[in-house]
Amino acid sequence: MTIKEIIDYGGTLVFDPLETTLTPDDFLIKYGEIVNGICLVAKSEFGTTYYPSGTAPADERFSQTFAAFAQVATDLGITTYAMIHGNKDSFFSRDPNFQMKKSGGRQIEHYVCPNQNGYWQYMGEIASEIAKHTEVSGIIIKDFLYPRDTSCFCDHCKRTFASDTNYHSRDFTLENLKQDGKINDWNTKRLETIRDFSKTVVNRIHKEKKLDVMTEILLDPKTDFFDGASNHFGQDLNYISQAVSHVLLHIYPWSDFPKTETELNKFYDEIKPKLSKLAEMENSLYIWGLDLEKYPIARQIQDTLGSRNIFFTEGNPPSYPDRRSLHLELGV
Ligand SMILES: [Zn+2]
Repeated sequence: MTIKEIIDYGGTLVFDPLETTLTPDDFLIKYGEIVNGICLVAKSEFGTTYYPSGTAPADERFSQTFAAFAQVATDLGITTYAMIHGNKDSFFSRDPNFQMKKSGGRQIEHYVCPNQNGYWQYMGEIASEIAKHTEVSGIIIKDFLYPRDTSCFCDHCKRTFASDTNYHSRDFTLENLKQDGKINDWNTKRLETIRDFSKTVVNRIHKEKKLDVMTEILLDPKTDFFDGASNHFGQDLNYISQAVSHVLLHIYPWSDFPKTETELNKFYDEIKPKLSKLAEMENSLYIWGLDLEKYPIARQIQDTLGSRNIFFTEGNPPSYPDRRSLHLELGV
C-alpha cells in the first residue's frame, strides 16, 4: 500500500478528514508503529475548523478531529504539524467587503482579498488558538496567495494602490497598469501584501510559542516556477523569507511530475538561481497525490534542495479542478 510505504520511507502525510476515509483511530492502528510525523489540517479551505474555535465556525462533522488527533499524536511522541488554509476561505468570502475581485470586477468565489488587515487579524487569531491549545511542533500556513495576476482588483486594493503611488485612477484594470508602466509597482505591492499577511500571522503564533512556521510557494512548470509564483501568486522567496525562516515548496501542483532526466534537469535549471537563498533558510516539499512512482523523484529533489520534510496527500483535493482552471486561467 502506497501510503504505508511512503510513511515508512519518512514522508509526512497531511490528514484532512474531508479528504480521507481513514479516521484518526484507523490511522494510528495502521501506521502508528511506523509514523514519525503527521500534519493535521486545522482550518479547512472552506473556512471551517476541525476544532472548537472561538473565532471561526467549526465543521459540524469534524469539530473535535484536529484537537483530539493532535493530542493523541503528541502523547505518542509523533511530531505533529497543524495546517491552516489561508485566503481560500468559502466562509469568510461571503462577506462582500472581503471578496476577491478579478481585473474587470468579477468576483472570484471562495477567495478572500489578502490585502485586508481585518482578515490578517482573523487568521492570526486562529493560528494563535492552535499554538495556545495544542502541542504541535509547527504550523503550515497554506494558500496565502493571489490565484493569478488578474487578481485582486477589489475596491480596497485599487483605492490603496492609487493613494500609495499617486496613480491617476482609482478604477483600473491589469491592462491599464501595464499600459501606464505601473505594473512593477503593482507587483511589488502584491509581494509586500503576502509577506505582511504572513508576518502578522507568524507574529501572533510566536507570541504564544516559538513554533516552526512554514508558508507556501507554488512551483509549477506551467507558471514558470519561481517567476510565476512571484508574478501571479504574490509568493516571492525573497519577500517570504522576511516573514518565515522555513518555506514550503508545493511542487508540481498543476503538471505531471518529471518522468525523465531531461525533465528533472529542467526543474533544477529553474531552481538553480534560488539555491543560495534556499540554503539560508529551511525548506520542505509539499506534494499532492504522491505515489510510489513519484516518490524516488521527490527524494532526488529533496536531496538536491536539502528539504527537511516531504509533506504529501493521498490524492488531489476535491477543489483541484477549480483551483487548476483558476490558477492556469483555463476557460475563464
Ligand atoms: Zn483586494
